Amino acid sequence: MERYNIITSKKPREIVLLKSFPCIWGKCTFCDYTEDNSINKEELLQINHEILTKVTGETGVLEIINSGSCFELPIETLEEIRCIIIQKQVKQLLFESHWVYRHKLQEMRDFMGIPILFKIGVETFHNEFRQNYLKKNADFKTPEEVRNYFDSPCLLVGIKGQTKEMVEEDIRHLKRYFDHGTINVFTNNSTPVKKDEALIEWFIKKYKYLEHDSAIEILYENTDFGVGT
Ligand code: SF4
Repeated sequence: MERYNIITSKKPREIVLLKSFPCIWGKCTFCDYTEDNSINKEELLQINHEILTKVTGETGVLEIINSGSCFELPIETLEEIRCIIIQKQVKQLLFESHWVYRHKLQEMRDFMGIPILFKIGVETFHNEFRQNYLKKNADFKTPEEVRNYFDSPCLLVGIKGQTKEMVEEDIRHLKRYFDHGTINVFTNNSTPVKKDEALIEWFIKKYKYLEHDSAIEILYENTDFGVGT
């Protein structure tokens, strides 16, 4: 599995995929990447150290993802990241967090001592689809609520059961309330959730112009950031 890459387009940055303890929720119906989680702390520390030694600081920006929330990384890994920030003169971090940790984001900002752009897996702002079908356990009601805590939502597009109207509204909210966002085109995995080919074709055609939008990154495959499997 690739765990380090340098992204050169849109928002240039180094990106690492670290290993963490199990996701606090772990029950989203579309998710199988929690298989990368582990309860073996020594294994986590060793793998994370190997990956973090690759960071050069050359872009000044470091994104850290971990098949869960940054709060599920071992404290020793977080301390190592904090050292790397100083040694490699990293100016900004990108972290991911689930909605349930929203009151802890400032704690992490204080701990790291540099600006953090916090991403959140919103998947969709359609509350019924997100909560009852995707089982996201993120009970916000409006994009404004999300914006109060997080900087950058990640949307999922192309799931059977999703409609064009839902996708259109999600992208409207993304553009209206946030300065940055990611759109993940859904690809089939080991879960029963399936992609909707026709909806994806429609999305690619209708929103092709977003490829030139510097504030929005679109992942057609999970590995488009150069990490993962
Ligand atoms: S919160 Fe994220 S990592 Fe956890 S189960 Fe849901 S999608 Fe997977």
